[in-house]
Amino acid sequence: REEMEFAGNTPNAVEAIAEKHLVQPWPVSETIGAEARGFIESGDGIYVTDAEGRRLIDGPAGMWCVNVGHRNKELSQVMYDQAMALSYNSPWYTTNEPSALLAERLAGHAPEGVGHVFYTTGGSSAVETALRFMQFYNNVRGRPEKKLIVSREGAYHGSTYLAASMNGRPRDHDWMDSAKEQVIKLSCPNPFRRPKGMTLEAYTDFLIEEFRATIEKVGADRIGAFIGEPVMASGGVIVPPPGYLPRMRALCAEHEILFIADEVVTAFGRLGHVFASKEVFGIEPDMITFAKGVTSGYFPLGGVMIRSKLFEDLRQSNHNDAMFAHGLTYSSHPIGCAVALKNLDILEDGLLAETRAISDHFQSRLKALEELPLVGEVRGLGLMAGIECVADHVSNNPLTLDLEVGKRIDRHCQALGLLVRPLINMCVMSPPLTINRDQIDTMAEILHKSIALTQDELVREGLWKG
Ligand code: PLP
Repeated sequence: REEMEFAGNTPNAVEAIAEKHLVQPWPVSETIGAEARGFIESGDGIYVTDAEGRRLIDGPAGMWCVNVGHRNKELSQVMYDQAMALSYNSPWYTTNEPSALLAERLAGHAPEGVGHVFYTTGGSSAVETALRFMQFYNNVRGRPEKKLIVSREGAYHGSTYLAASMNGRPRDHDWMDSAKEQVIKLSCPNPFRRPKGMTLEAYTDFLIEEFRATIEKVGADRIGAFIGEPVMASGGVIVPPPGYLPRMRALCAEHEILFIADEVVTAFGRLGHVFASKEVFGIEPDMITFAKGVTSGYFPLGGVMIRSKLFEDLRQSNHNDAMFAHGLTYSSHPIGCAVALKNLDILEDGLLAETRAISDHFQSRLKALEELPLVGEVRGLGLMAGIECVADHVSNNPLTLDLEVGKRIDRHCQALGLLVRPLINMCVMSPPLTINRDQIDTMAEILHKSIALTQDELVREGLWKG
C-alpha cells in the first residue's frame, strides 16, 4: 500500500474525508452524506486488514464476490496487460477479443441452448437487461400485454428502478418508489418459516399451487417472466424446498413465461459450479443473470445469458426495424472480460472441485452453531450460509426485541478476527472459495464464541430471556 502514490493517509483521515464527501450505499437519513464506515486497508487471500491493523477473515468475501480471494497476482497482472493492450473500445460499433472468447466459454458452461450473453456493469444492470429484454421480446412478438413480472417476497435483485421493483425484503420499499404495477409477488419459499406442522412436501405443493393459481387469475397472456434467485442470498440464504425450482420452471414453460434465474451470487463457484441452475437444481432457465464472482470482484462486470432461440424468434418477426434500445458504455469491457477469462481458468483448474469437496465441512461446522439457544436455524449450500437468530425455539420469532443482533455478533467477531455480514437478526457467511479446512474451523469457533457473548449481553441487558 505504501508504494501507491495516493496512499499514506491515516485511517482516521480517510474516514473523515469519506464522512464529509461520500454517500455510502443503503444509508439512512439520520446519517446520510455524513457517515464513515470502517476503513479497510488491504486484502490478502481470505483476509482483510482493518484500521487497527487487525487481520480479519473476510467472511462475506466482500459482498459475495471475492471468490478467488484478495491480492491474486494472476488477476492483477491480466488487468494490467489488457489495459496496456486495449483499455477500451466502443461496443456500439466494434468488438474485442476477450469479450468474444468469454462469451464462448460462458455458453459452454450454461445449459444447452443458452448460448448468448449480453454484458453489463454489475448485477442490477444484468437484471434490468433481462427484464427489458423480455419486454422488448413480447412487444416485437405482438403480445405487448404479456409483460408482468413475477417475483417473490424476500428477493433481492438490485438497485436500478425495474430491478429494485422486484425486491421483496422488509424495508426495501418503505421509502422508495417502484414499478409496482408491473410486479406480482409470490411467497418466499422459506422452509424454516412454513406453517407449524406442515410437511415439506405439502409446503412445496402450496407454493406451486400459489403460482399456478396466480397464472390462472391474472392470465398467462399477461405474465412475461418469473425471476428468482436459486438460493435467495441477501434475503437470508434461503434454500427452497426440494423440487420447488423444477416445478416452477415447468409451470413457466407451460405458459410461455420466461424463467430468469438470478445467479448473481450462486454462479462462479459459490455452489461449486460456474452456473448452478442445471448442475445443482436441475433447471434450464431462459435467462441467467450473473455478476460479482465473474471477476471475483476485481472489475465491475455482469451479464445475462440468453437462450438463443429467443433471438431466432425475433429474427423471424415482422419487425426488422425493431431495435432493442438498450446498451451500456461498458458492455463488453475488454479489461473486465479479460479478468473474467483468467478467473474462469482459476475456477476450472481446481477451485470448483475444491469448493465442492470442502462445502460439507463448511456446512456441518456452521450447522453445529444450532446448539446455541439464540440460533434458530443455520442453513445453506455450497460455500454460502445464513445463521438466523430467534427469540425462542417455540415461536421462532426473529428477535423483534433487538433487531441489531447481527451487528452485535459482528462486533464480537471482529474483535476475534472475523468479518461477518450482519443482516438484521442474521449473519450471512460466504467466504472466498480459497478458504481451507483449518480456516473454516477458526471461523466457526469465532462465530460460536461471538454468539455466546451476544447471548450473555442480551440477557444482561434484559432484552432476551435465554
Ligand atoms: N441480484 C442478486 C441476487 C444480488 O445479490 C445482487 C446484489 O447483491 C444484485 C442482483 C445486484 O447486483 P449489483 O449490486 O452488482 O448491482
